[in-house]
Amino acid sequence: MEFSDVSPVPPVLTHTTVVVVGAGPAGLVVANRLHDNGVGCVLLEAETREFIEQRPRAGFLEEGAVRALAEHGLADRLLGHALTQGEFEFRFDGERHTVRTAELSGRRHFVYPQPQLVTDLIASYADKGAGDARFGVRDVRLDGVDGDRPVVSYTDPLTGARHHIACDFVAGCDGARGVARAAIPDSRLTVSRRDDGVAWMALLAQAPPSADGVVFGIHERGLGAHMARSPEVTRYYLQVPPGDTSGDWPHERVWHELGIRLAAGGAPRLKEGPLIEKVVLDMHNYVVEPMSYGRLHLAGDAAHLIAPIAAKGMNLAVHDALLLSDALIAADRSSYGGSAGDSAPDNDGGGLAGYSQAALRRVWQYQEFSQWFSDVLHGASSGDRFRAGTARARLQRLLASGPDATAFAGLYMGEENGPGK
Ligand code: FAD
Repeated sequence: MEFSDVSPVPPVLTHTTVVVVGAGPAGLVVANRLHDNGVGCVLLEAETREFIEQRPRAGFLEEGAVRALAEHGLADRLLGHALTQGEFEFRFDGERHTVRTAELSGRRHFVYPQPQLVTDLIASYADKGAGDARFGVRDVRLDGVDGDRPVVSYTDPLTGARHHIACDFVAGCDGARGVARAAIPDSRLTVSRRDDGVAWMALLAQAPPSADGVVFGIHERGLGAHMARSPEVTRYYLQVPPGDTSGDWPHERVWHELGIRLAAGGAPRLKEGPLIEKVVLDMHNYVVEPMSYGRLHLAGDAAHLIAPIAAKGMNLAVHDALLLSDALIAADRSSYGGSAGDSAPDNDGGGLAGYSQAALRRVWQYQEFSQWFSDVLHGASSGDRFRAGTARARLQRLLASGPDATAFAGLYMGEENGPGK
């Protein structure tokens, strides 16, 4: 490998077993698992620690993901602080309908804001475990991932020095806008996309919840959703026309519209408060296949984006990370016997060679579920009487508490030993 630095500061050359790019839920779970199992690891993150510990995003973890994190000692604070939810409400035509997902599936959702999970995982890796985490790194570059000795390089934000880390494997966990995926030649991957054709404005209100948990207001004006996060903060989603910006939605307009879409007989008025986050998200989804190329393995949003319709993104990131870390640990152990890499014997029948296929099984199950649920939630506002009719028919089947409701609840709460296992 040749280094072509133009910086006046001499480059720094080091070596580790795995470079993890990105300190979101996926990268942090991988880094913790590797470090706890004695596998050499360097974690690189483009943002500052303070920034990622505050960045608001997801809030729901499946019981299966929590249990797996707990088995590895990564859920102590979560188990002590998270609230759990086992039902949600649909509101439409002025009526309220409760879906008892825990009763139907035997599993609960844990309500734990993503910044708290990220904070816990950084503390466990970097503080408690003294793992090597480098924040605020610039110009991360991956070279030679198709060979035996990949090199990940970055510029140190303080000294300007270019660091080159030679490694055995790279875990690309740098989210939807990262650089890891771009290290895979276009000819070696397929990206399948689906655009739901709608946008949601994600809102965080400094206001107590107005209901016990999740409420989906299905309305011909568009979806309105409420998700209790904490006694002080509530997440709302408002379907908006694609192309709208948060500037199109001043405070009064947001609350007026939410009030209409979440109204139902007997439902209390929404508790309003300052909107501390207002961001428009296009409801689009993609899947990158395969999730591995040479010594580079993608996990989480770096490999697949799923609209937050069914709260699956953070869960998929955690599931990927657990699979990938198991495979990397197995590969590292086998390398002592002289056979690291894709030929490594594995702990789950797949190892690194089977990682992509195993992860993609769950990814596609969740994408299918998210698409199905999107049709249910957006049919009424589609302006298409046929779509509205079929969405209503699905909703009625789901509310009838038969096998459709059980299947729905299983996927909504997250399969334990089904997809991806
Ligand atoms: P990320 O969390 O995106 O982490 C990637 C990390 O890599 C980031 O810290 C980034 O700064 C870093 N990075 C990027 N580029 C580089 C680089 N070049 N070098 C080094 N580091 C880099 N999911 C749910 O399950 N439930 C929900 O309710 C939910 N709600 C959501 C609401 C919103 C508003 C949004 C935006 C997302 C929501 N999601 C939800 C999705 C969820 O947040 C993501 O799926 C999850 O963050 C994916 O985790 P990740 O670790 O793969 O990626």
